[in-house]
Amino acid sequence: MRRTSKTTEIQLLKNRVKHCTKCENLVKSRSRAVPGYGFTDANIFFVGLAPGRLGADSTGIPFTKDSSGRLFQLALSSSGISMEPNGLVQNENELRAYVTNLVKCNPKNDKGNNRYPSKLELDNCNEFLKHEMCLVHFDVIVPLGRLSTEIVLNQKCNKFISMHNRPVHANGSWCIPFIHPSFVARGSYPKNRYIEDFKSLNRWVRRHNDIKDDSSPRL
Ligand code: SF4
Repeated sequence: MRRTSKTTEIQLLKNRVKHCTKCENLVKSRSRAVPGYGFTDANIFFVGLAPGRLGADSTGIPFTKDSSGRLFQLALSSSGISMEPNGLVQNENELRAYVTNLVKCNPKNDKGNNRYPSKLELDNCNEFLKHEMCLVHFDVIVPLGRLSTEIVLNQKCNKFISMHNRPVHANGSWCIPFIHPSFVARGSYPKNRYIEDFKSLNRWVRRHNDIKDDSSPRL
């Protein structure tokens, strides 16, 4: 029997996400399901919460367009990390990222605003996240926010803020929990410091993998 290539498997997974109808409420509220995006031979695997109403739900790409998305993109570009595998210009010195969410469809409340996904929705979509984690190569997983961290680490994180930007080794891989960009966009954490945290993430990955940094002067 012919073995399916990894790229084909990832494409098949994306198609399954795009046509998934498991969550009745989310199928009604979403504009589209948003599969993960980025490099499948990544250094960093980011996991957010859900596509934002004004962001990924309209663009189809995680962490784009809304205030969280713009901040996340600024943090990536300021720290030498790229999530754009189809970019016209590829900078070989940049670290590569894959970006996805716990649930792939935008959850809305009765007023039409973003809400947290329900336990059932998280459980329904967890199969896709686990599959992505198997198919995508990464050096470190970076859950964005408390809920993503709890699901990635499979443990309660009551003192989540103290875990921000601190590497832990768990379930056979490195994990560095980060605050969710929406928390920063709301002004609850300084933007400049958040961008510095992404630069320190870049340095950690390079040190960990002994990758030379030719992209910018050392900080
Ligand atoms: S959130 Fe996940 S499981 Fe639910 S409908 Fe969307 S893709 Fe399917």
